Amino acid sequence: MNEPTRLLIHGASGRMGQALIRLARERDDLRVVAAAARSAPDDLPAGATSVTAASLDSAPDFDVAIDFSLPEAFDAVLDLCVRRRVPLVSGTTGLSDAQRAAIDAAAMTIPVVWAANFSLGVAVLGDLVERAAKVLAGWDCDIVEAHHIHKKDAPSGTALALGARAEAGGASPHYASLRAGDIVGEHTVQFATAGERIELVHRATNRDIFARGALHVARRLHGRAPGAYRVGDLLD
Ligand code: NAD
Repeated sequence: MNEPTRLLIHGASGRMGQALIRLARERDDLRVVAAAARSAPDDLPAGATSVTAASLDSAPDFDVAIDFSLPEAFDAVLDLCVRRRVPLVSGTTGLSDAQRAAIDAAAMTIPVVWAANFSLGVAVLGDLVERAAKVLAGWDCDIVEAHHIHKKDAPSGTALALGARAEAGGASPHYASLRAGDIVGEHTVQFATAGERIELVHRATNRDIFARGALHVARRLHGRAPGAYRVGDLLD
């Protein structure tokens, strides 16, 4: 595919939205054509149209939407993508069970990737956690996560996704959350038994890793058949 993939960034004025817009500029194969947020974003790429939550339907044509917003904003962008038959990449966390079910239903008609974390390191951590849980039957499993004070949901979506991997390995994880300062994201998965303890830790120091992952996935999703894809399906 030689033409650039035209992107709608949903949540464009937020921390992730601004990182997506800045990093998309560095790629010739991506072009931001629309930036959607509750109010007009600070950093609007040249040639992009700004749309607000109320005027989402007026967005110009785009090939893929990337959504890093809030649960209350999510339904509108999913609905827009289904009506226009375009793929959606979403990293919004704190979604309800009904919203997760709506993603599965949408995947019958459009390609969708929803992931709690778009970093390669966390994808590997998930594999390690499941493997450890399988081998360490009966050990206590605790997942401790720390994020900046502005983060609304707890436990983090990544902690819950790591917990699902631990459960798949047979563990029963417990969760603890810290909200402090400007921490980008830290996850520790601890396995403990009498006399010994293992800690598997991932520290994100820059949210660009998530934005780069989402941009990569968006490019890969353009032109795919409908379905629910995982980040790991699109890393090559
Ligand atoms: P933020 O608060 O800085 O930004 C939220 C954005 O959503 C803003 O642009 C805001 O205008 C927009 N918004 C809010 N209500 C809206 C509405 N009704 N319609 C349209 N837009 C609306 O948040 P952030 O730190 O950028 O994080 C955004 C989301 O991404 C959160 O759910 C966070 O947990 C998640 N996140 C996911 C990953 C990942 O890898 N999956 C990484 C970092 C953050």
